[in-house]
Formats: sequence, C-alpha cells, structure tokens
Amino acid sequence: MWHRFKLSVVWKIALVSLVSSVLALLMASATMVAYDLATYRRHAMQTALSAARIAASNVTAAVAFRDKQACEEVLASLYANESVAAVAIYTADGKLFAHYLRPGVSPNVLTESKRSQGWLQLSDHLDVLLPISNGSENLGTLYLRYDLFGWSEHLWRYAQSLGFLLLVSAGLALLLARWFQRGITDPLLKLEKAMRYVSETKDYSVHIEIPTRDEIGTLAQGFNQMLSEIKAREFALQNLNAELERRVEARTQQLQQEIAERKKTERELLQARETALEASRLKSQFLANMSHEIRTPMNGIIGMTELLLQTDLRPEQREYAQTIKQSADALLSIINDILDFSKIEAGKMTIEQVDFDLRSVVEEVGASFARHAHEKGIELLTVVPPQIPTALRGDPIRIKQILANLTSNAVKFTDKGEVMISVELMHETDEVARIRLSVKDTGIGIVPEQQARIFESFTQVDGSVTRKYGGTGLGLTISRQLTELMGGKIGLESEPGKGSTFWVELPLQKSTRVQSADAYPYIANLHVLVVDDNATNRRILCEHLQSWGCSVQEAENGQQAMEQLTTTLPCPFDVVVLDYQMPGLDGVHLAKQIRSHQPTSRCKIILLSSVGVMAGQEAESASVDVWLTKPVRRSQLYNALCEVTGIADGMSPSKGPTVERRASGIRVLLVEDNEVNRKLALHMLKRLGCSVEGATNGREAVEMTAARAYDIVFMDVQMPEMDGIEATRRIRERELSTHYHLPIIAMTAHAMEGDRERCLSAGMDDYLSKPVKIDQLAQVLEKWNPIRRRAHAPLTEQTPERLAREARWMVAEISRVLQEGAVNDARQVLRSLKRLSIAVGAKDVEEQCHRIEQRLSVEPPADLIEGVEDLLRLAEMFEQSQEANKECAA
Ligand code: ADP
Repeated sequence: MWHRFKLSVVWKIALVSLVSSVLALLMASATMVAYDLATYRRHAMQTALSAARIAASNVTAAVAFRDKQACEEVLASLYANESVAAVAIYTADGKLFAHYLRPGVSPNVLTESKRSQGWLQLSDHLDVLLPISNGSENLGTLYLRYDLFGWSEHLWRYAQSLGFLLLVSAGLALLLARWFQRGITDPLLKLEKAMRYVSETKDYSVHIEIPTRDEIGTLAQGFNQMLSEIKAREFALQNLNAELERRVEARTQQLQQEIAERKKTERELLQARETALEASRLKSQFLANMSHEIRTPMNGIIGMTELLLQTDLRPEQREYAQTIKQSADALLSIINDILDFSKIEAGKMTIEQVDFDLRSVVEEVGASFARHAHEKGIELLTVVPPQIPTALRGDPIRIKQILANLTSNAVKFTDKGEVMISVELMHETDEVARIRLSVKDTGIGIVPEQQARIFESFTQVDGSVTRKYGGTGLGLTISRQLTELMGGKIGLESEPGKGSTFWVELPLQKSTRVQSADAYPYIANLHVLVVDDNATNRRILCEHLQSWGCSVQEAENGQQAMEQLTTTLPCPFDVVVLDYQMPGLDGVHLAKQIRSHQPTSRCKIILLSSVGVMAGQEAESASVDVWLTKPVRRSQLYNALCEVTGIADGMSPSKGPTVERRASGIRVLLVEDNEVNRKLALHMLKRLGCSVEGATNGREAVEMTAARAYDIVFMDVQMPEMDGIEATRRIRERELSTHYHLPIIAMTAHAMEGDRERCLSAGMDDYLSKPVKIDQLAQVLEKWNPIRRRAHAPLTEQTPERLAREARWMVAEISRVLQEGAVNDARQVLRSLKRLSIAVGAKDVEEQCHRIEQRLSVEPPADLIEGVEDLLRLAEMFEQSQEANKECAA
C-alpha cells in the first residue's frame, strides 16, 4: 500500500506512529464513553424510578377516592426534580385522570398510549410507567417522563476534552516519532544519499560510516564492500582498457603500414603483370615469328632432301642425304615440341570440339609409324573393337598428337616384340564415352622410381639412354598437359626389361552428326581363313571379320592353313587373309600353293605385309588378289573384301601402294609466294602425279580458280597483295552461286594458336603446317581427292542425304570429264557413285551407273551426258523416298 504514495521513509514512519497512537487513544476514549454512558443511564433510571414509586404510593389514596386535586398536588411536588418533564395518572380504564406538564412540554406526550408498564425506549428522555394499586385492586397507571437533557451536554463536553486530548497526544506522538525515527532513518537517508551520489558521479571511492549494528548497519557494510569491489573492478577494467587501447593503437599503426606496403606491392604487381602480359604477347609473337622463320627454311631442307632421295644417287650420296633428312626431321620434331610446350605454358593452347572418327585417328597413327616399326623389326598393331563408339566429338588433332607421342616412344624404346595401340571403353552414357587409349610395348621398360617423374618437363630416365635414343623429354609433358586440357588422365604401367603400357583416358562427347551404326550388308556370309603367326594380329582380324558377320577360322602357319583349306571338299573358304612374314612357309609361297592346288585355286587371297616390303612383284607372281600394308585399317580390309568378292571394284588402296599412283590426274592449284617453297611443293605434287599450276598470291588464285577448274587448292596463308584467308573468302563467296565446293588446304608456317581456327573459319577445308612433307601431301590429297574421297569416306557417313549431295557433285564432275573426253576419269567417278549407292541401297542409281559404265567403252562420251543427268534425278528421288519412309516411321 505504501508504494502508492510518494512519501519519504521519514514520513511513513511518522505517519505510522501517529495513526497508531490516535487509534489507541480513540479506542481508550470509546471505552470510557461507553462506561460513562452506562453509569449515567443507570443513575437516571434509578432516580426516575424512585421518584415514580414515591409518587405512585403518594397518590394511591387520592386515586382510589378520585380526588383529582390531591393527586395534582402530589404530582406538583415532583417538579422539584428538574428532570421530570411530565407526570400523568391514568385510571384503570385508561382515562387521563390528573396530570402535570412542565411549561414548554407538548401535551401530546400524554395522549400517546402509555398503557403498558415498564421502561420505554431511550432517546432524549426516559418514560416510566408504574401501576397504582392498593394492594388488591389495580387503580390505574402512573406515567413519568424523565428528561435526559444533561446527557447530550455531558457527551459534548466529553467530545471536547477528547478532541483536545487527541490533538495533544498526536502532536506528542509525532514529536516522539520524529525523535526516535532518527536512529533508523538517518542511516537510511545517508545510505540513499551515498547511493545517489555514486550513481550520479560514478565515484566508487565513497565510504559510509554507520555505526549501528542492525540490518541497516549490515546493509551499509555490504554497500561499502560492493563499492570497493566495483572500484577494484573498475580499476582493472581501466587497466584493461588502457592496455587494449594501446594495443589497438599499435595494431592500427601496423595495419596502416601494411596497407601502405600492400598498396605499394599491388602497384608493383600490376606493373609486373602488365610487363609480363606484354612479355607474354611479345613471346607469343616471337614464337609465331620464330616458327615461321624456322619452318620456312626447314621446309626447303626437308623437301629438297626428299626430292634428292628420289633421284639416282651414289650410295655414299644417298647416305649423306638420308642423314640430312633424319637430322632435319629430328630438328623439326624438337622445334614442334618446344613450340607446343611454350604454347601450353602460355595458356594459348585451345582444344577443339569437332566430330571425328576415333578409329581413323588410331589407324592413322598406326599407319604413320608402320614403316619405322617395320624397319626395327617390330610388329605394330592397332585394336579398335567394333563395339566401341567411335563417332565422337573432341580434338582429333590433339588426340592424334598424344597417341603419336606415345607410339613414337614405344617404337623408339622397343627393339623386339610388338607395339600395340588399342582402344577400350571404360564407361558410357547416352552422351559421353570415357575412352582409354593404350600404347603397349615390349621394350626396355621404366624403373618404378622414374615412373612418377616421367610426365614432368625435360625428364628422361637417364642420360645415357637419352644419348642412345635422343629426345627432348618434352613429349610426355606435352601429352600430359594436352590430356589434362581435355579433362582426361594419363598414366603408365611398366616393368624394366619387360615393357611399358602408357594409357590416356579421355571423356569424349558422342557425336550425333556421324551415324555410328555401320552397316556392312554385302559380306555377311563370307567364309574367311586368317593365317598369321602373331596371335594379337589374328585376334584383331577375326574381330573385324566377325563384326561384319563373316564366319572366320584361324591358322597359325602355312601348313595349318593348307590342312584347313584341303580337309573338306569343296573348299569351304571364300577368302584367305595371309600374313606375308611367317616362319616356315611365308605368305607369298602359301599363296602360290593355294593357287596351284585345284580345290583352293579359286579362293580369293588378301596378303598383308609391312610397309616397305617389296612384295608387289612377288604378290603379282603369286596372283594375290589384294595386297594391304600393316597395320591394316578396318575400312581397308572391308574395301579389300568387297573388291575380291566383286561387290566393289577398282577402288582398293591395294592397287596403289605408291603415292604416285594415288593422286594421278588431280589438278592442283598451288598458291605460295616463297619461290623455294613453291618450287618444292610443285616438285612434290608432280611426283604424286598431280598436274600442278602455281600462283604467287591470293589475288592470282582467285582469278585462276574463276578461269579454270581445279580439284584442289593448296594455299599459303601469308602472302603479299592478298593473303590466303581473304582469297578463300572470295572463292567461297563465288561458290554460293556455282554450288561447287573446291577443297582448299591451308599451308602455313604459323603453328601458333588460332591459325587453324582462322583458316577453317575462313572456309578452308584442311590445314597443313610447314614444312610440308610429301607423305602429308599425299595423305591430304587422298583425303580430299574429289574422286577417291568419295571412295574411301567412312562407311558410317554413307547416308541417303549424302548420296544426293555427292551425286550432285559427281554428276557435274562426270559431265565435265566426259566433255574433256577423259573416259577413265569418268569411269572412276561413276564407280565411286556406284559404291556409294550400293552402300545406301539406292538400287536405281546403282543400275544407272552400271548402264552408263557399260556404254562408256562403246559410245562417244558426249552422248552419255543425258544419261548422267538422270543419275542426279534418281539420287534425289531416292533421298525423297527415304525421307518419306523416315516420316512414316516417325
Ligand atoms: P623424349 O623426347 O625424351 O622421348 P618423352 O617425354 O616422350 O621425351 O619421354 C621421357 C622419357 O621417358 C624418355 O626419355 C624415356 O626415358 C622414358 N620413356 C618414355 N616412353 C617410354 C617407353 N615406352 N619405354 C621406356 N621408356 C620410355
């Protein structure tokens, strides 16, 4: 309750004592008044009663005699008592007999019924009623009214004195309370004051002295203790603060210093970066220039040496020339390595994403090392199982580079046994195939300690080995870096003395553009005997043959083969695939035996030999049907089978083992400003059987291609007047209206980043980097030769759309050569078209080709043009029907 009032403790205590003393006094007075009142009333009643009694006895006689006067005299005598206000006598029947009223008293008091006897209620008077009797008879009633006016007066006096007493005692009580409470409130107030002071000033050094030993004393003591503790803590806190401030100050200074330093370093770094960037740009530029400058003379050296080697030389001269060529090749490969390495280090190497056929990549690498391997007496095999998805997207050039690196090492470090390039499928989803390419050799192997370091730059197993085998130690580093750029892994397993297997795992997108379902409809029922002493080689051949549905048997040597060929009659085999080099009975001799033996003489024979083995004559003498070089490509084997079984004729690579024959009749435009290089390329192309014309810049090339028809253009990129890029662009623009696509091959000494992309995006078809070798030229010619290109295109690409596309071009070509009277050329193109139509199942086109071919030898060429144009119509009809079928199926 106290908390409602905002009173100080002092006043609260004073009030408490005041209220309690007043209450005590009031209670005492009330008791006294009650007692006094009771006494007074008793006294008044006794007085009134005795007066009434005396009067009653005095009037008895008078009432009995109805003496009113005597009665009234007795009654008047009662007036001596001042308190008697009225007296009356009533007869027994209740009638007023005599009365006396003091003046001022209302007569009404007498009329009120006073018949009952005894006390009446007390107010300001007492009413007494007494019976009047003579002992036996009731004579009436005496009524007496006794006034109590003295009572209220008495009360008033009483109240007055009580009020006075209350005032005095309350004053006293207040004084006393004030006097006594000091002992309590003073320490409290002191405490409160101290507290207020502390909270306002935050001065914790205050100490209050309160000597009392009561609770307030304890409180004060506690307060003092608390203050001293706070004081101590504050002190500690202050110390801590000071320390903290000192530290912050120190750190701030340090930070400021650091920031200043960092800013300085940043500025320096920025400057260094700019310098480095500039240096890198200059380096790239320098590399590009270097590349150009080195390759140009290298081109001359290598090319001219190649040409020199093709001439009649004395053995001594030949040896010198060969040494020059080897040294130049080695130098070129070192330069290429260093350039690649710098390119990767400078982050300038980019990885392409194009559709390619993995099988071709592997087989091309195999083919390019075949001669070298053969010269060392090593078997070189390529294994690409038919079920592996080979239509992929990626960078075939870089994959080929890695594979070539590994294969080159394998051949280099292997003196006997075999080198096998194989492909495995590690994992496959709908979109991606994880492919592992392995190169396994039976060479010197690598000790375990060296295996971990072998992919680092400039690492070679030991100096003496290097001196023996040569090399820069960059090949594997480049391979690793390229692999990593393609998101793959590279590794090896090796055992010294036993051989090594280097592998590369690459995640490659599956290509949707190249159809991978390869149909080989025409050789499914062939019975083939494979004769080879090398088990791996047998396995590869068998896998290919079986994948085309052929039924295959194997023989390890000539004797076994003869047994198998002759045990059942008639001879169960359609084709025998023979290895040339076998212990005992070799391939040529076995072929001769087969031919001379009546039941087997009609078997078709395909002879496999390593590159450079001069089997041509021997093979012919043994009447071998087709002669293939190892490692045999899948498509070559297929073509050979088609050829021997009469499904396709005349297009087998076996007919042209030498480069000269492969490119005969192709009309080439060579665009090159450097005289030496032009002369060199001219010689090479001529050697390859091409008819070549030269142009010295892009402008000339644009003019010449407009005036004359060429089959292919080799175009230098950097030239005066108009460069190769611009020239290509103009030629392509012109082709928009002619619909004829002229293959343009870039030849550039630049091997730097973007060159390839620049050339291809300008509309060039392929890219050769200088120095250009005759083999590379031959390969490119083979690839882009308008006639052969169609014959050797991967079977997987042979679709109805392609037929229509190719037919358009071929028809134009046939018409052109017919007009020139080149019947043989026309026949070749016709056969290509026939092969293509067989592959896609375009019966009408095939038959029309056949008809024209028949007429070729008997009718004048000009008469055939109409029939040739029909070919195009038929091809288009075929394409439309195929599309309609497809739509129906969908
Ligand atoms: P190099 O140009 O010297 O061949 P590489 O990086 O290609 O450079 O190879 C580094 C070294 O690794 C080689 O010098 C050789 O010691 C070792 N090496 C590579 N491949 C083989 C292999 N197939 N067999 C044995 N040693 C190998």
